[in-house]
Amino acid sequence: MPDPIPFIDLKEQRKRLGAGLDEAIARVLEHGRFILGPEVAELEGELANFCGAKHCITCANGTDALVLLLMAEGIGEGDAVFVPAFTFVATAEAVCLVGATPVFCDVHEDTFNLDADSLAVTVPHAKSLGLNPRAVIPVDLFGQPADYPSIQRVADEFGLSVIADAAQSFGGELGNQKVGKFGKASAVSFFPAKPLGCYGDGGAIFTDDDTLAETLVSLRMHGEGGDKYVNVRVGQNSRLDTLQAAILLQKLTIFGDELDLRQQIAMRYTEKLDGYGVPIIIDGAKSAWAQYTILSDDRDELAARAKSQGIPTAIYYPRPLSLQTCYANFPSVPGGVPVSERLSAKVISLPMHPYLDAPTQDRIIESVKEAVK
Ligand SMILES: *Cc1c(COP(=O)(O)O)cnc(C)c1O
Repeated sequence: MPDPIPFIDLKEQRKRLGAGLDEAIARVLEHGRFILGPEVAELEGELANFCGAKHCITCANGTDALVLLLMAEGIGEGDAVFVPAFTFVATAEAVCLVGATPVFCDVHEDTFNLDADSLAVTVPHAKSLGLNPRAVIPVDLFGQPADYPSIQRVADEFGLSVIADAAQSFGGELGNQKVGKFGKASAVSFFPAKPLGCYGDGGAIFTDDDTLAETLVSLRMHGEGGDKYVNVRVGQNSRLDTLQAAILLQKLTIFGDELDLRQQIAMRYTEKLDGYGVPIIIDGAKSAWAQYTILSDDRDELAARAKSQGIPTAIYYPRPLSLQTCYANFPSVPGGVPVSERLSAKVISLPMHPYLDAPTQDRIIESVKEAVK
């Protein structure tokens, strides 16, 4: 069997970062300000700059970024928060963690992202169940921004806050705006496998809203009010470690180039796998290509063949959240989520990272074609 291919290769990136990374880590060990040290504020400035948002507030992980935003909005018991059924569990989990009710909407067949029409019929349904509609969390699945203009129109009609789950899409764009600028605020994850990942858990929130930013700074630090031992609200312990901030500052220096590399690799897949259920990117959108996901009726055959050739694949996500045991009792759009169900049965993700070379990619492409013919 040829050498096994990694699904996501972090070793090449580490090589490229070289001694600069070791030195950045050594500097933190030296100054010893492990919590909210100088690298954290520096990173927040650079990240805000990168996407053009007014504020960046880092936190412990992407799930917390969502939870902190819901807390800041005062969302809790009796409130409905609309989420797509086809997403990673954290989107709905965050809603439950603040005591609110996740209400599942369906997604678009082509982009896999929240369908604004589905949202428009789900909001009155939630009201009829006695819930108070408060927010919607569109997800930028696999790195492609959701259709924010359409979602914002529906959200405005019903008075919902738009909180973007941009855990997979930092670096993406829509209509010349970068991810981090959509909705009232965006939640980003720096989990190692995300497009911009650290060496552990990490997350950030982006917003242009001064009041919201101030509240978030307090919430991530036990609800402090200007001084560590003055507590003005019930908060959390959710900070990004200084070490992770130092690592991210190094990674940010090559992130733009890595996004270009991801784009080239994705375009190569799309060109060579034309007719094999390749992903569709909407006009004016740029994906951060967290995943390269195709649709296949022969998914099991494809995965088995690839595996026998040392090629890993993954299924994101095998089941809509609304059908998971622990979420099945929450409300869904009337008529259910047939698109999410169909997608769950067909999606399969191929190895994707900036350092996937052409010969290796050709091996993957050949394997897919053999399995599907
Ligand atoms: C990864 C992810 C999250 C959660 O991020 P963590 O940093 O792992 O907590 C939330 N939503 C989506 C869509 C994700 O992919």
